[in-house]
Amino acid sequence: MGGSESFYRSMFDLSRSLFLQQTTDGVLKHIVTSLKGHFPEAVSQVYMSQDTAPTDPSVLPLVFRHDGNDLCTRAFMEGKPALGHPAEGADASGLPAFAAAVPLIGKQGVYGVLEVRASGSPLGPEQIDLLVGIGETAGAAFENAKLYEQSNLLVTELRLINEITKRLNQSLRVSEIFQYACQELIEVFRADFACILELDRKTRTFRVQATNMTEMLSDIFELDYGFAGLLHRTKEPVIVSDYAANSRVESKLMHSTGSRSLIAAPILVNEEVVGAVLVTHSQPSYFTYENYKLLLLLAGHIGLAIMKAQLHAELNRMVITDNLTGLYARRYLDEQVHSMQAKDVRGSLIVVDIDNFKQVNDTYGHQIGDQILKQVSGIVRSCIRDTDIAARWGGEELAIYLPQLTLEQTERVAERIRSRVEAETDPQVTVSCGIAEWSRSDEKISVESLFYKADMALYSAKHNGKNQYCIG
Ligand code: GH3
Ligand code: MG
Ligand code: MG
Repeated sequence: MGGSESFYRSMFDLSRSLFLQQTTDGVLKHIVTSLKGHFPEAVSQVYMSQDTAPTDPSVLPLVFRHDGNDLCTRAFMEGKPALGHPAEGADASGLPAFAAAVPLIGKQGVYGVLEVRASGSPLGPEQIDLLVGIGETAGAAFENAKLYEQSNLLVTELRLINEITKRLNQSLRVSEIFQYACQELIEVFRADFACILELDRKTRTFRVQATNMTEMLSDIFELDYGFAGLLHRTKEPVIVSDYAANSRVESKLMHSTGSRSLIAAPILVNEEVVGAVLVTHSQPSYFTYENYKLLLLLAGHIGLAIMKAQLHAELNRMVITDNLTGLYARRYLDEQVHSMQAKDVRGSLIVVDIDNFKQVNDTYGHQIGDQILKQVSGIVRSCIRDTDIAARWGGEELAIYLPQLTLEQTERVAERIRSRVEAETDPQVTVSCGIAEWSRSDEKISVESLFYKADMALYSAKHNGKNQYCIG
């Protein structure tokens, strides 16, 4: 063993300076310098087994050869020094070459190999000891720096996820969630393009909901097309290191942006694919495995945010919808009329009441009565525009608010409802309608007075013999 004082001094100095390095790159650079200092006559080389992206040209990737003679492979596999002749044999000057390879070894494994080649005579035992010492000290320092880098990365990642999740959860609008997520993905991965697609269950297609590739906004794709299609089939994330070299999947995003790298993940809600996230870059092999894992995590959070927003929307819908008829609830109609009276110049209201409904119930039973109420509601719905609001006003009374409509137009709607109910209901019923309108010039505009007027008109319609409409 190298028990000399100078050996311990060398080791001490080396470890002190190595452990000051906070990056793996710094450690590797230091190893290279130290090998040159200790073996000035020889050629020294550092081989690393993992892609540490070192900036020093003396650090090369370790290529495994399986011929059994390769000293570096042996040193790496066995985790101990390998001595002998390098695979290439004699050096350029014709003298026999000797080489020593020692592992760069830490507590958790072997990271690479240090190789020293000397021509003429082999390394002496003290030099070998020194080299082994450097391998162990440097291995521990490398491992240290690597763990430090990894934990830093982890902390940054957790902070990021925390931040994004918080923002995603603040929004209850799905479109906002898509928009925000898309921006974040581009920033987080320093990507060129990101694209979020949503699955439309009814049409069984994917629609682009957010992207910085603006020509693709609102594009619609078949369920089996592109990477979204692949994600839909497999429910698994994808990493593509070079689209140009291996275009197994046809992709408009990759093609039209000239992207070569891709990471993509499905958006899952209750294990069902509801969308897809694609992130691209023009350089091949741009995304790391860490990026891929992070995207998977983020896609999970996007899925949760979407689910929350959808539940919220569904709850909202339930609160403002009448169960039996599927029309809006009375409170919603009130609110809408109130807010429209604040901004519109005119509007009208039709109140619809089924004639002799008590008798219908008595004749056919309450259940058939309910069916008729549904039929009438369906007719009302099909007689109005999307912007009109039809609500169940009371038991068998419906009310329809028609924004911006003139009286004549409103009369036509009421008459259409009346005649269609008479013609289409089974068992047949008829309805009476009361119409009221308001305009900006009215002295006193209020929801109450509008309804009061419509109610009075309904009363007249009933009084005049039912199955008709009256204007209040
Ligand atoms: P009119 O022509 O004057 O309107 O006579 P009507 O019998 O329809 O009288 P009114 O509108 O005052 O009576 C409402 C009846 O409608 C009372 C009730 O039996 C029935 N009704 C109210 N809500 C429902 C419901 O949800 N389902 C059923 N099946 N019947 C209802
Ligand atoms: Mg009634
Ligand atoms: Mg009635």
